[in-house]
Amino acid sequence: MKELSFLVQYSNEEPHYTVTVRKEKRNITALCTCPQGSPGQLCKHRLNILSGKGKIIIGDNADQLKLVTSWIAWTDVGQALNKIAEAQKEIKKAEKELDEATAKLAKCQQELVDARSQLIKAMSD
Ligand SMILES: [Zn+2]
Repeated sequence: MKELSFLVQYSNEEPHYTVTVRKEKRNITALCTCPQGSPGQLCKHRLNILSGKGKIIIGDNADQLKLVTSWIAWTDVGQALNKIAEAQKEIKKAEKELDEATAKLAKCQQELVDARSQLIKAMSD
C-alpha cells in the first residue's frame, strides 16, 4: 500500500486540512479531515488533489501531487474525474449559449416593443 498526505487550505478564511490518498493495487481511496471529508461525501479538497490541482497545497510536498495523478490514471476514480471534467466543460458551454440566447431574447423583445410603438404611431397619424 502506498499513501500520500497533503496539508491543504482552500481559502485564507479556512482552517488547514489534511487530504490523504491511498493506493492499494488499483484501488484508490481519499480522505480529508474537513467536515465533508468522510467516505460517501465529496469535498473540494479531495476533488482538487485528485484532479491534480496543487494550488491549495500549503505543505512542502506539492511535487508529490504528480504521483497521485499517475496513481489514478486508468482507475475508476480517474474515469469518474474525467466525467466531472467533461460535465464541467459542457456546463460552461451551455452557460455561454444561455448568455447568448438571453441577449438575443432581450434584443427581440426590444424590437417587438419598437414595432408596437411604430404601429401605434402609424395608426394614429
Ligand atoms: Zn476536505
